Amino acid sequence: MKNIYTIGIGLIGGSLAKDIKASNPDVVIHGISRKESTLDRALSLKLIDKKATLDDVKQADMVIISIPVDATVKLLPIVLDKIPDTALVIDAGSTKEAICKVVEHHPKRRNFLAAHPIAGTEYSGPDAAISGLFEGKTNIICEVEKTAFKLQEKALKLFKDIGMRIRYMNPEAHDRHIAYVSHLSHISSFMLGKTVIDKEKNERDIFDMAGSGFASTVRLAKSSPEMWAPIFKQNKGNIVETLDEYINNLTHFKTLMEAGDFEAIFNEMKNTNYIKEILKGIN
Ligand code: NAP
Repeated sequence: MKNIYTIGIGLIGGSLAKDIKASNPDVVIHGISRKESTLDRALSLKLIDKKATLDDVKQADMVIISIPVDATVKLLPIVLDKIPDTALVIDAGSTKEAICKVVEHHPKRRNFLAAHPIAGTEYSGPDAAISGLFEGKTNIICEVEKTAFKLQEKALKLFKDIGMRIRYMNPEAHDRHIAYVSHLSHISSFMLGKTVIDKEKNERDIFDMAGSGFASTVRLAKSSPEMWAPIFKQNKGNIVETLDEYINNLTHFKTLMEAGDFEAIFNEMKNTNYIKEILKGIN
């Protein structure tokens, strides 16, 4: 792998570029983005070695697509049309069903590997890119059998170099599971933030009382709507189901509160403390 093209150089694309360069110093990272200002910033932050355009991917050994998932669905078939027969294309999108579907019958389907690195922060753009973001994190790979074996090997080496462990899953299972552990967490954080902001409009001092508990639960509400709205759109069915279950739990909690059943409330919390065991070792 000599020439790697990153389409999208924000949090994920930029962090991938940093770690790949650190583990493979001979690689040349070419950046592609919509805005010239983003490319300039990525260059000055040394996330990329050179600026490039979409047509340049005809010289690529590898292309990494890290742009919002609706834009990935549009761009991925075009990128596959342009690359040489030997090149590997990887996407990092947070949904997998629509992305895998759009290239299902593409003549270069075997050049594509569908991935979702489970790593991130609430920040976006090139300035959000950080070293070591993927160390010890899980990378979900979907439909691996549809990628040419030699290209799978190249991708796995790259993921190993940056410290990722791999899980294989089909795109439907990925989107169903990720709705619970990622998409619902973001919605709940956005709506908690909204509830408190709405209240603050009338009671100005409320944020003076906000402590670290509030800050950590609303952290995800700082996330970019440009990235999240397309994810919610693509995973609508699964997300509506998770919301039903979440709302049922909230309603049940409210009913217990109204009934003054604090023993049941204590038990609900005690049982949910099991999350400590589940999350042991996850930072
Ligand atoms: P980001 O920091 O906002 O970066 C997105 C990049 O995509 C920017 O470089 C932007 O470039 C470009 N872009 C934005 N809208 C576009 C459009 N409509 N068409 C083409 N390019 C566009 O986002 P990110 O967090 O890196 O996310 C990138 C991908 O990784 C997404 O598919 C996301 O689902 C996935 N992902 C995110 C996380 C996370 O926690 N953030 C974790 C795992 C996977 P310009 O400035 O030039 O417009």
